[in-house]
Amino acid sequence: MSGKIRDALQSTVVPGADTQELGNGLTSYRWLSYRTLWLTTSEGVVVFDPLNRAASADIAAHLKEGGQPLRYVIYSHGHRDHVSGADALGGHPIVLAHRRTAEDIRVRGYSDVVAPTETFDEDEHVLEIGGEEIRLIRLAGAHTDALVASYFPRRRLLYAVDLVWPGQLPPPGAPLSYSGVERALDRLLQLDFDTFVPGHGAIVKRQEVIRYRTFLSDLRKEFVAALQRRGLNDLHSASTFLAAPEQLGSVFFEVIDALKPTYGDWENYDAAILPTVQWCFWSVLTGD
Ligand SMILES: [Zn+2]
Repeated sequence: MSGKIRDALQSTVVPGADTQELGNGLTSYRWLSYRTLWLTTSEGVVVFDPLNRAASADIAAHLKEGGQPLRYVIYSHGHRDHVSGADALGGHPIVLAHRRTAEDIRVRGYSDVVAPTETFDEDEHVLEIGGEEIRLIRLAGAHTDALVASYFPRRRLLYAVDLVWPGQLPPPGAPLSYSGVERALDRLLQLDFDTFVPGHGAIVKRQEVIRYRTFLSDLRKEFVAALQRRGLNDLHSASTFLAAPEQLGSVFFEVIDALKPTYGDWENYDAAILPTVQWCFWSVLTGD
């Protein structure tokens, strides 16, 4: 059965789900707004975030067709919306996560998140399976304490969850540190990759990650420049605090107007730009 026909059939079974072949055994799986991967090798299958029970059951049905045993499940971080339901994948995989992610899962005590069976503590952990090298890179302080990006050097492909929303602003309320995301992206952009697979949204080229990183820089620059034009050079000084409440509103809207010509075509610009500027404001205020 061709991939296209199978995908069409699949989407009738699980509405909102589809797969995309990325070549040489790597498959991207989308479930509504979520995206994960699995890798089929001669030594078995690696599933990345299991997402949830419904998605995992669907992934298990796909894996059954391939006939290879499930060897690993790799968690990107401890948030339940990405890592619940691994029991529905079946088999007896090693569930691998960073030690801090395992702690996070234990503390939260979710009944539907399978606890990791193996952990690593280093900031970069290499998994070799079936001739494939997967580098798990910890990005501290960006989204959680131990968000892990998965890098496939031979494929020049990077999978990172809850860090970049290509062509979109981050969803308001997501637990993100502005400067932590900047640092994480600077680290990831040192890697040699062409293809970027996000945990939400479409698979894109490296250029889109650069564009997202540039947006964060542009926002910070515009925000600081608008403050300086009003003589608000140090947000911690008493005089700034006295002047700021009257002026901050106009600072916010000046920044929004300045960014609009370049980023106004992003999907959720009008809905999400104000909270995004506020997010930058907290970063400038707290130095984080
Ligand atoms: Zn998350």
